[in-house]
Amino acid sequence: MRITGIQVLRGTLPLDPPFDAAWDPVPRTRFDATVVRVTTDEGVTGYGSGDTMDGFGPYADLFIGQDPLAIARHVRVLETISFHAGRYWPLEVALWDVIGKKLGVPVATLFGGSLDAIPAYASTGRILPAPQRAETVLAMRERGFRAAKIRLPAGRLAEGIAVMRAVRDAVGPDMDLMVDLNQSWRMAGDIRASLDPAAVRRFAAALAELDVFWLEEPLPLDDRTGLRSVRDATGVRVAGGEMVRTFGELLDLVNGDALDVYQPDVALAGGPSRVRTIAELALARNRLFTPHTWSNGIGLLANLHVTAGVGGGPYLEFPYDPPAWTPQRRDFMLAAPVDIDPAGLLRVPSAPGLGIDLDPGRFEAIG
Ligand SMILES: [Mg+2]
Repeated sequence: MRITGIQVLRGTLPLDPPFDAAWDPVPRTRFDATVVRVTTDEGVTGYGSGDTMDGFGPYADLFIGQDPLAIARHVRVLETISFHAGRYWPLEVALWDVIGKKLGVPVATLFGGSLDAIPAYASTGRILPAPQRAETVLAMRERGFRAAKIRLPAGRLAEGIAVMRAVRDAVGPDMDLMVDLNQSWRMAGDIRASLDPAAVRRFAAALAELDVFWLEEPLPLDDRTGLRSVRDATGVRVAGGEMVRTFGELLDLVNGDALDVYQPDVALAGGPSRVRTIAELALARNRLFTPHTWSNGIGLLANLHVTAGVGGGPYLEFPYDPPAWTPQRRDFMLAAPVDIDPAGLLRVPSAPGLGIDLDPGRFEAIG
């Protein structure tokens, strides 16, 4: 089989009302999704998504005419490109979709086939006042979620503790709760000062009292000593690594035991193959692997397959904060949104490949 074409498609969903994501400097009024389509001489077509693919065009020739099953070669080529240009991991995702379809198995099978479903955690996107957030998490539990991750304002930590206390009081002891401070990387142009370890240790100690399952990105990722000090001082698990740029950096995190929960997104941070290696190293060392999935339905499916394949967990991120962020908005590029079952599980699609059912009317080719 040979790769005959790589097309970059883009669709846009206007967001009215806008989505005020905690990590965005200004509310989003539109949601762009870029899809990579790989075509082959055998009529097998694969899809990937997750990042913009801006600037990829001149590199397509490095893949045209190649066998899509030579995935280790493609990963190494993508790594050489990422030194000079963007992180084009959605292409690797699309190649895995091709490979799964060619072999007639779900991608999760190719990654180890450990699980066929993973409990989802509702991953919120907005910062809300305590009573409103407590109400929304109760609604999430009603809908089947067994866990939820709450965004808190990094600049107002005392208010954040009040939010978590209200949520814990509302849902009781049986729901797992996580907290994300979004301090490890920044949107372009955001140069606000980071939290410091002393403030985070005090904050994490209060979270420990509320039985928080993990604290995500409390400090810049380069502050490895600070990250370790939070765990050592408080016993709260520290999560991170969602947007790391290189395999080497991910290896350093694992080798330095910087985190309790490793979260590299297969569509954004190193690609499915390299993330599998990191996941297996983390699991072998008795740490958790459960990736970031905040892109769109295709990125969510790609992360679901890899996580189920390697046996990660115990939960998988399900971006969800209605009415601002719904499965319909997140997955507008799919014929139907990805969703949990009544037991709160994300089931691995049984179709060959990633099981993506694209809505072609949503896209136009841009490269
Ligand atoms: Mg995060």
